[in-house]
Amino acid sequence: MLKRQPVEKKPISPAWDPWDAWYTRSEKSFYELTSVEFTVTNLCNLRCEHCAVGEALVEKEGSPLPVDQLIRRLDEVETLQTLSITGGEPVLHPRVVNETIRPLLRYAKERGIYTQLNSNLTLPLSRYEDWIEDLDVLHISYNYRDAHDFYRIAFQKYGKEVSLSAAETLFERMKENARTLSKNGVFVSAESLLSPFTAQHIVKMHRDIAEMGCRRHEVHPLYPSDFAKGMTLLTLDEYRSTILRLLDGRDPNVWILFGTLPFFPCSDKQEDLDLWLRLHREENVTVRQDPDGRNRLNINAFTGDVIVTDFGDVPPLGNMMHDRLTEIFHRWLEHPVAKKHHCFCREAHCAGPNILVSHAYYRDWDFTTRKAKAEVRV
Ligand code: SF4
Repeated sequence: MLKRQPVEKKPISPAWDPWDAWYTRSEKSFYELTSVEFTVTNLCNLRCEHCAVGEALVEKEGSPLPVDQLIRRLDEVETLQTLSITGGEPVLHPRVVNETIRPLLRYAKERGIYTQLNSNLTLPLSRYEDWIEDLDVLHISYNYRDAHDFYRIAFQKYGKEVSLSAAETLFERMKENARTLSKNGVFVSAESLLSPFTAQHIVKMHRDIAEMGCRRHEVHPLYPSDFAKGMTLLTLDEYRSTILRLLDGRDPNVWILFGTLPFFPCSDKQEDLDLWLRLHREENVTVRQDPDGRNRLNINAFTGDVIVTDFGDVPPLGNMMHDRLTEIFHRWLEHPVAKKHHCFCREAHCAGPNILVSHAYYRDWDFTTRKAKAEVRV
């Protein structure tokens, strides 16, 4: 590992979200690799209906690549700013925590790199406590009104009988863990995926997230991939009215981050432009330009395969065992799918669509020929 001076990190806030692809694109006029995500396990104790990697989950798995090998590749990326760790459930197997997660978090901390770990937070609190201080963002999913919803959403596809009371225990533990960790200063960011079900209850879900002490509520569309392939998506009109309802009913102290938003300031509809402007006016609300497809690569810690998003809709672009990450990233920038989606309208603070959103809602749009019709001051 290269010796670097420790870097003082600016606190994460609506004014500084280091995962947002906007900063490098607007400052340098091109994208560079600032973000790496590792898939460190395909084990999980749940099988959520919306899971973006549900088909890849396994009951047993072998050993990941040695962490030193992962770190050597990270060391070659001078521009690295953020590191994300995902699964499966990364915390499920203690060996993954000890041999992969801890060394990655320590490495990132020494380099001043921001870190996020995605967890369902249903394991006993002690499983999180002794490494969490090295983490910047603990990301959880929250798509439930109560334990019954959790039971249906997390276990319908489980393939084995699970009792309602076992699900209730996990649900209550997840909420209690979120409360305790938040109280202890951990930045817990809870994500809801807007579907026809969650859209109806989003304000209650938001209020519960606020009650748990989470600092941020991330709101994304349901991604129609993997487990969620057959699920019904909201129409754009339904999506827009859900956002407006949430904005009217939100707790102003909780930062709401709209990610992979399916609305753009080059829309021909006035209501889309109005929404874009309102989202950029509201205090404690941000629209994140998607890191996937822009400044992030995902590495499978078992095979070394590198993909551009964690939803696997573009085949692997290389393998970290024989390619440098920066080379793979340049391969992506030259890819026709990237070129088709890398539009940019500075005056509207927009860096174009997420690929899945574009495929789901805007198949007949050519983003490369569109132009913003709204201006925002940021
Ligand atoms: S053309 Fe692209 S960058 Fe410009 S407003 Fe539309 S989606 Fe955004």
